[in-house]
Amino acid sequence: MSIIVQKYGGTSMANSECVKNVAEKVVNAKLRGHDVVVVVSAPAGFTDHLVSRAKEITDKPSGRELDMILATGEQISISLLAMAIKALGEDAISFTSAQVGIITDGNHNKAKIEAINTDKLLKALGEGKIVIIAGFQGVTKDLEITTLGRGGSDTSAVAIGVALDAAEVEIYTDVDGIYTADPRVVPNAHKMDYITFDEMLEMAGSGAKVLHLRSVELAAKNNMPIHLRSSFSDAIGTYVLDEEDKMEHVLVRGVAHTTNNAKITIANIDNTSKNIALIFKTISDANINVDVITQNYINIDRITISFTVAQEEYDRALELSKDLGRRLKADEVYGNEKVAKVCIIGVGMKSTSGVASRVFTCLADHNVAIDMVSTSDINITCVVNQDDYAKAVIAIHNEFEL
Ligand code: ADP
Ligand code: ASP
Ligand code: MG
Repeated sequence: MSIIVQKYGGTSMANSECVKNVAEKVVNAKLRGHDVVVVVSAPAGFTDHLVSRAKEITDKPSGRELDMILATGEQISISLLAMAIKALGEDAISFTSAQVGIITDGNHNKAKIEAINTDKLLKALGEGKIVIIAGFQGVTKDLEITTLGRGGSDTSAVAIGVALDAAEVEIYTDVDGIYTADPRVVPNAHKMDYITFDEMLEMAGSGAKVLHLRSVELAAKNNMPIHLRSSFSDAIGTYVLDEEDKMEHVLVRGVAHTTNNAKITIANIDNTSKNIALIFKTISDANINVDVITQNYINIDRITISFTVAQEEYDRALELSKDLGRRLKADEVYGNEKVAKVCIIGVGMKSTSGVASRVFTCLADHNVAIDMVSTSDINITCVVNQDDYAKAVIAIHNEFEL
């Protein structure tokens, strides 16, 4: 029998009605003849609630203790779902990650899965049980509890799918597929039937939180198809897979955005590789992630460096940059705490020129100033003022007739 892995997100597990609905879907898959493994998230809003409980105690909870509390949300969901399935007359068993042996590294709050022990899972499946596993959490070799980063249940599901050599991984959520842009921002965005791993990697990496970035990386690496679909209907959703030939050829597949960005500029310093290295070493030594980087030449000897960081790192990054500015005799160091990234994504760009100029013209026509630009062969990222992001996403969506 083929193994199928289904993952249900927070909104799908939000209350008892939702849990019963999920139980029915799971039982139906079992009755269709599959061995079913289910990965679940905490009920919607519950992980946020746990984070705020921790923050009420201290601004800076230790990573270990934060994981200890965050991992509890998923445990509620696994037990309720097992009860609901049994109430429908099928046998089910719930497992925490520690019980299964989902082994991660020790990086609290953003741990990476290193290995999954499939013994217990295969034994339970062999006994005809539906297996339910807590997503998002893991355990180190020393039995320390870890979590995979917010949204990480998608990654749990794909990793388990790969370990069990499942036929596919179904991710059930509150939208009926992956859209050409976030449907909350672009009301006329449309659902795609397919998207390539590469495009979905760029979408997820550019802020489309519909799938956890790492889940797409794992799926791509192992060629594991993901079927993202709604837990509130039986409609076919969107397939993320490797088969470009199956897909309609389009120039731009979708637009993604993030609004949690801030920009810092160190203006007019000596153009030496030593200076540039010092800037980014100082920032990374402070554990701050730099995202988009641009450099503008004043003349051959002098340059201005700009980079973006997450908003919550802005104050620290600006302070470090001011200090760097003094050391490097910059004319000025300044920042903008509220910028946004708008990313235009499509494998079609690889073989077609002129996409960037259409993007820039379109934004100019809509009076959106472009602060920074970075590109890869399938992604054009524009940093814009935060007030302009929705206008920019909608304009580009229309320009490429998505
Ligand atoms: P879950 O709790 O099931 O994991 P998430 O909230 O993590 O659900 O992901 C689903 C949400 O992702 C949708 O409600 C939607 O607002 C958002 N989203 C962002 N970009 C996209 C996109 N391109 N297509 C579909 N949904 C998107
Ligand atoms: N419950 C976790 C979160 O809210 C994991 C997940 O939903 O995937 O981030
Ligand atoms: Mg999610």
